[in-house]
Amino acid sequence: MIPVTGLDGARVGVLGLGRSGLAAARALAAGGAIPVCWDDNPEARGRAEAEGFATADLSRANALDDIARLIVSPGIPHLYPAPNPVIAAAYDAGVPVDNDIGLFFRSLAVGGWSRFDTAPKVIAITGSNGKSTTSALIHHVLEAAGFEAQLAGNIGRGVLDIDPPGDGGVVVLELSSYQTDLARALTPDVAVFTNFSPDHLDRHGGIGGYFAAKRRLFAEGGPDRAVIGVDEDEGRYLADQLGEGPGDDRVIRVSVTRKALGPGWHVVARKGFLAEWRKGRQIGSIDLRGIAGLPGAHNHQNACAAYAALRSLGLAPRVIESGLRSFAGLPHRSQVIADHDGVRFVNDSKATNVDSAAKALAAFERIRWICGGLEKEGGLDPVLAVSESVVKAYVIGREAAGFALNLRGVEAEVCGDMATAVRRAIEDAQPGETVLLAPAAASFDQYDNFEQRGDDFIARVRALVAS
Ligand code: ADP
Repeated sequence: MIPVTGLDGARVGVLGLGRSGLAAARALAAGGAIPVCWDDNPEARGRAEAEGFATADLSRANALDDIARLIVSPGIPHLYPAPNPVIAAAYDAGVPVDNDIGLFFRSLAVGGWSRFDTAPKVIAITGSNGKSTTSALIHHVLEAAGFEAQLAGNIGRGVLDIDPPGDGGVVVLELSSYQTDLARALTPDVAVFTNFSPDHLDRHGGIGGYFAAKRRLFAEGGPDRAVIGVDEDEGRYLADQLGEGPGDDRVIRVSVTRKALGPGWHVVARKGFLAEWRKGRQIGSIDLRGIAGLPGAHNHQNACAAYAALRSLGLAPRVIESGLRSFAGLPHRSQVIADHDGVRFVNDSKATNVDSAAKALAAFERIRWICGGLEKEGGLDPVLAVSESVVKAYVIGREAAGFALNLRGVEAEVCGDMATAVRRAIEDAQPGETVLLAPAAASFDQYDNFEQRGDDFIARVRALVAS
């Protein structure tokens, strides 16, 4: 645990008692603060009380009178569509609002670090897609190279839950836009921006607010090194703002669509080959095509971002390459789960929106595509644009018939549920084809979450290919 410093003896409100809220309460108490906890859900309050924390309804009049700071969980709106009433009351009362990420950055460095040969480092990863994969990949390569590495934030452990890093230790932090928007301290050594596409617009008051939230990671903290995906205007703007000129290598530009341009530091991947360019010269290259854990151009983008972050910690290209090769991939993201009679089965249940499903479709050929579920706003056009790789779609979800109608130009069979879809896809599949779950829709009409949907797919595939 990282005890929170600077709030010794202070009463600190903790709003939201999920994984990160409880970890914050423990870390505050360990640093001598007095957490005052609240969650609208009585079960969550019960868990805090069972650990001995005081609970109090922070929405009552005057409840914030003696509160020095309010720590809020990422799921609770702090501005749009409207601030939660407790947060609104904190704004009125002038109580500083922060989150576990802000507490982490203010508390991480301690006096004992002066004895270390190498001070610990923090790599923070944000962006619209690929955050988890890039974070897990960086963590994996570091561990494979013998570093002490911890994975935390949106993935792995709650950030205040991790062990204090040791000599030369590295903390890899995945940060969502909700987290970067609110944190009062954001001071990673290396910050990564994977890519940008619209998401969570209701929580950020539109696309500008969403980008502004992500941009804070670079603008507020001023990381020593910024790794920026420059395949969208937002990334190009950010890279330009952070550099003092084309040769300034505090910025490493990552692209999977463009060549390396100019004398700066670039990591690009084209046609499956990663190349590192610095001062106009190519100094590293890796053939990514055969790496089973990183299929498709979207994963090559993640590989480039991870490579760049690791290069800025001083790892050699050869060491990074060996770590990339042994990366198994993350569950539910382009996860190859079986190869049977020449047919490959891939679980990308995390493709909950059309953009991520489009990336998955672009990563494979001759696809038996299991899709459908709770459709999101905006239609299916981005995914239909890459549907030439689809042999046939097998549609699940409560509104499967409607979803199938929207799949213009794609042969589609209305299956309704996963069991039927997997069975029908297996009956039809020919050697050399891929049965891919990439729903392009949320799972909540039939499942609790995308993990449960992916696990169902895996179980049905395993049962059918074993029989
Ligand atoms: P995040 O943590 O940002 O949600 P994940 O690594 O969990 O990202 O991937 C989420 C979804 O997006 C998955 O369906 C995955 O296959 C897809 N994806 C992964 N990396 C990228 C990328 N670089 N660009 C676009 N889509 C991606």
